[in-house]
Amino acid sequence: MSSHKFLTLDDVETSNKRIFLRVDINVPLDPSTHQILDDTRIRAVSETLARLEDARVVLGSHQSRPGKDDFTNMQPHSEALAECCNQQVMFVDDVIGPHARQRIAKVEPGQVLVLDNLRFCAEENIDDKPEKLLKTHFVKQLSPLFDLNINDAFATAHRSQPSIVGLTDALPSAAGRLMEKELKAVSGLLVEPRRPCVYVLGGAKVEDKIPVIEHILTRDKADKILLGGVPAKVFLKAMDRKISADDEKDMAGLQTQIKNAKSLWMKYKDKIEVPVDLAYADTRGKRTDRAIDVPLKESALDIGAKTVEIYSKVVEEAATTVANGPLGVFERDGFDLGTKQVLEAMARSNGYTVIGGGHLVGLASILGIDERFKHVSTAGGAMLSLLSGQSLPGVDALVRAAERMRSQKNN
Ligand code: ADP
Ligand code: MG
Repeated sequence: MSSHKFLTLDDVETSNKRIFLRVDINVPLDPSTHQILDDTRIRAVSETLARLEDARVVLGSHQSRPGKDDFTNMQPHSEALAECCNQQVMFVDDVIGPHARQRIAKVEPGQVLVLDNLRFCAEENIDDKPEKLLKTHFVKQLSPLFDLNINDAFATAHRSQPSIVGLTDALPSAAGRLMEKELKAVSGLLVEPRRPCVYVLGGAKVEDKIPVIEHILTRDKADKILLGGVPAKVFLKAMDRKISADDEKDMAGLQTQIKNAKSLWMKYKDKIEVPVDLAYADTRGKRTDRAIDVPLKESALDIGAKTVEIYSKVVEEAATTVANGPLGVFERDGFDLGTKQVLEAMARSNGYTVIGGGHLVGLASILGIDERFKHVSTAGGAMLSLLSGQSLPGVDALVRAAERMRSQKNN
């Protein structure tokens, strides 16, 4: 038996078994052609699929969410999966209806059937309590068709949804290889990271980065936090530094975050680093770097060149570096400098390096340097949840499943 509190693929019999395999192959898609732009998450499933080669596998994932341009069917995913796992893969354009259930019943050992976008079912879009999820149509329709549930969707493990929690509570369940690997790499950062340990945090969402800063600094798991993107602006504002008029406007809705940033800054002044300069677009859209206290009117779009130099040096000398969220609006010409250079400094360093978050990982893969990080997480939100000390509902359900299965064995 493995040393985890949950079961893994080492603990369960899978030959000929009817298996529901939950993965997260929600990928960036071209909004008009729906062509897959980055297949990192699809490739990440291959180890688990190889391990299940003589099982009857029904694979489910979501893609985006209702209302978004990239909320599509899973046909392109099933084709990409076939290609990168070198395996025949079938697709059914249904999730829990009679059409899907008939096809599921006919899956033979060695075959893989991909269900359509799980979020085509309304219930899959709601976060709810485990006992509620167990009673959903989703779980009632699908669970009788399977012997075993494997959750390999680390990137969705922070959601309490029918396919993540409900099916895990309804069926004998174990973690897939990717889930195991991700949990080990990310949770390990909260045990004894090699020091100095540096976090690079940027991106647009501040509300999921501040709890990480608070948790790791309170538990003394980091030596330096290097800030970019919107989190940097929130801290600058919290420190009463001058920011541009447009940035000032954007801060209006972030009062709670600014308050939290202020109290973190008061406690951990020596550990939190903000940019010394920022990059703005001039009237012709060209990059202009300014010291932080002499901003232009428009929003800052990247960390400045001096900051890049300082951050790169810190990262190169770190024994552990964790990065989540780009340091600037890297989608715009000229404003990818900070993110690219700091990623490259991480890639050069000899330390243990972890990157996560869709945008950052996508960029590392475009730059062709993704293989040079020690761990590339397929998750954004789930990684941040773990690092902020929250438990993941998907993992909690796997632990309950293991307890159920162990007590059945003992009776
Ligand atoms: P990730 O997907 O890597 O976890 P987020 O989703 O939090 O990161 O944020 C990604 C977005 O943050 C990108 O679209 C990027 O343009 C934006 N961003 C980065 N820096 C800034 C900035 N200074 N101002 C506004 N948006 C920014
Ligand atoms: Mg993102």
